[in-house]
Amino acid sequence: MESAADAIARLNPHVAVEGHRIRIEARGHDAAEVLAAAGAVIEATDDVPAQASVAPSTAAAPAPGDVLQGVSASTGSGLGLCFRTGVTLAQIPTQASGSPAFEREALTDARARAADELETLGAAAGAQTADIVRAQLLVLTDPILAESANAAIAIGVSAAKAWSDVIDAAAAAYARLDDPYQRARGADVLEVGRRVVALVLGGDADRESPSGVVVADELGAAEVAALDTGRVVAIATAAGGATGHAAIIARSRGIPAVMGLGATLLAISEATPLLVDADAGRVIVAPSPDAIADHECRVREAREHAANAAEHAHEPAFTRDGRIVPVEANIGAPGDLAAALAGGADGVGLLRSEFLFLGRATAPDEDAQHAAYADAVAQLTGRRLVVRTLDAGADKPLAYLDMPLEDNPFLGVRGIRLCLARPEILTTQLRAVLRAAEKGPVSVMFPMVSDVSELLATRTLLEDARASLQTDGIAHGNVEVGVMIEVPAAALCADALARHVDFFSIGTNDLVQYVMAAERGNAGVAALSDPLHPAVLQLIASVTAAAARHDCRVAVCGETASDPVAVPILLGLGVDELSVTPRRIALVKQAVRAVAMPQAMKLAADALSIADAPSVRELSRTVLRDVT
Ligand code: PEP
Ligand code: MG
Repeated sequence: MESAADAIARLNPHVAVEGHRIRIEARGHDAAEVLAAAGAVIEATDDVPAQASVAPSTAAAPAPGDVLQGVSASTGSGLGLCFRTGVTLAQIPTQASGSPAFEREALTDARARAADELETLGAAAGAQTADIVRAQLLVLTDPILAESANAAIAIGVSAAKAWSDVIDAAAAAYARLDDPYQRARGADVLEVGRRVVALVLGGDADRESPSGVVVADELGAAEVAALDTGRVVAIATAAGGATGHAAIIARSRGIPAVMGLGATLLAISEATPLLVDADAGRVIVAPSPDAIADHECRVREAREHAANAAEHAHEPAFTRDGRIVPVEANIGAPGDLAAALAGGADGVGLLRSEFLFLGRATAPDEDAQHAAYADAVAQLTGRRLVVRTLDAGADKPLAYLDMPLEDNPFLGVRGIRLCLARPEILTTQLRAVLRAAEKGPVSVMFPMVSDVSELLATRTLLEDARASLQTDGIAHGNVEVGVMIEVPAAALCADALARHVDFFSIGTNDLVQYVMAAERGNAGVAALSDPLHPAVLQLIASVTAAAARHDCRVAVCGETASDPVAVPILLGLGVDELSVTPRRIALVKQAVRAVAMPQAMKLAADALSIADAPSVRELSRTVLRDVT
């Protein structure tokens, strides 16, 4: 099997670090010349040191009542005592205290223990965490990383320092990559590296599991996945942002989190009371009795609201004036469906089919895909399943598709572009979807469409798939066809697209990044990436207007549909259906019930003439306060 270091080296010649072996192959008449030139480049290339996530803190400890401002990574709030986790650089000794043999054994033992912990976590985790766990196990078992650390140990460096240096170098190599998906793997490497260092130092081996407010320089996704939600009330980190893996896992587990709080956070002493107001992205140090009372009052209200919403989660959502709004679920892994049904989903409005394709050596065949879709249809007992066809590329590369490296993968061959370039993949998927439709209502929708010719080409493939099933005598059903509106061109040409589909589903996550020119994984432009920006709302309004002219339904399946503050605006803009993360179904249904259509339409019209997203949010909050 390919080692992690080999994989790093294979991706790009600039990413191998000192100590890595690089295999270069060349074919053709000038192979020898190419090999010589590549060797010269590698020999001449200096390694670049890793970047610490946040510089070791020299900041003064904040005073009682001080407010630290960061980025809201997962909503809610929590009050608890500061629980510091993770190892700081100052705790890592450079010189070994034992013999090289002793240090080597300590490192081997720590790597094995970290691998055991990860395997236990992976066995209990959902698809998203399992992927991260797999990548981290590869780091722990990589013989070349271990050899590099052992080489440093042999000359008297401590096991913790040797491993920490090797990991920093590997993570720095990832950090230099252009591809955001591969850059994010650097955080996974650092996370597992930190865990091994902590185990070598025995720092937190005997410590009880984290509780209260977990404070760290940075947390990895697997660390967040392992937190005990019965003991941990919130997370606060010095580094990190709202779009990293750790933030996504915190949101999916309902743990309030504020990230990017800066080095001052690390100067706070253990057991200091902290109030994490994750909605506002801030942390109050040793809050006053008034601040605590205010927090407790808001928590009580939120709890009552959630309990009330949960009571009605399984009922359909009608606006005050009686318009029904289906609230469906976005699911990305088989396990999500149970949570969606338990949460009251009226159906599945977005099945991200990538989970079937990721983390494998080859694409899944038709039978394997059919089994997964048919299982979802059976569990949905008559409710609709919308299967989005494979949306690979950009932040979801698939190694076995042998996709060329692109300078700007978000603007490259992703989504439907990739499937049209490899039609056999789409045809197999469409046959599986059509077969699943035999047993219940299934729709298919296509991601990243930017031109009507792409839609027509996919419709032809769909008809071909149907005809081939017919010829093969294989049972299948009818599907409704939808297109995702997530590229500005599609939104602007919605009129042409609407003639050929039954529904639109607006993918605000991508639409926002393309409209605002703000990459969705880049914390530096997170403030620009607000789907309630009037520019985005204008586009949504033009999409719903075009759809109405062609009797085409409009859903929103981007994250903004899960935001109760956005719900009345979306309805007012003419959106018919919402598809949301399973945890938010009950709250979104309550948000639908809070408004009548005339109010929603007035709010949407007002929002369109406002200059910026924060003012739109404020206006919507005011309207919601007035009606509830
Ligand atoms: C979107 O872009 O809004 C969307 C739902 O698709 P994804 O987040 O999977 O790209
Ligand atoms: Mg998308």
